[in-house]
Amino acid sequence: MGMPRDIMASHRLAMRQRVGVSADFQTAVCPVCDARLMFVRHPDADIDACGFESYRFECSECHTALAGIIDPADDALLISQVAA
Ligand SMILES: [Zn+2]
Repeated sequence: MGMPRDIMASHRLAMRQRVGVSADFQTAVCPVCDARLMFVRHPDADIDACGFESYRFECSECHTALAGIIDPADDALLISQVAA
C-alpha cells in the first residue's frame, strides 16, 4: 500500500510551488500612467554592492522605460522612470 505516502509527497510539492509563486510575483504601478504591472523577480538579476536587486523593464501600457529596485531590508519594490 504505497498510496498514503504518494498523496503526502504530492501535497508537499503543491505547497512548495504555491509559496514559490507568491514570493516571485509582485505588482508594480507605473509612475507615469498608473497602470498595474505584473513584476516577476528572477534569480539572475543585477545585485549591487549593497544587496539591492535592480531590474529594467517597460510599462505595458505607455511603454515608458522603468527601473525597479528591490530593497533587501524589506523586499519593497521601488519603481522609477528611467531618464531619457
Ligand atoms: Zn505606464
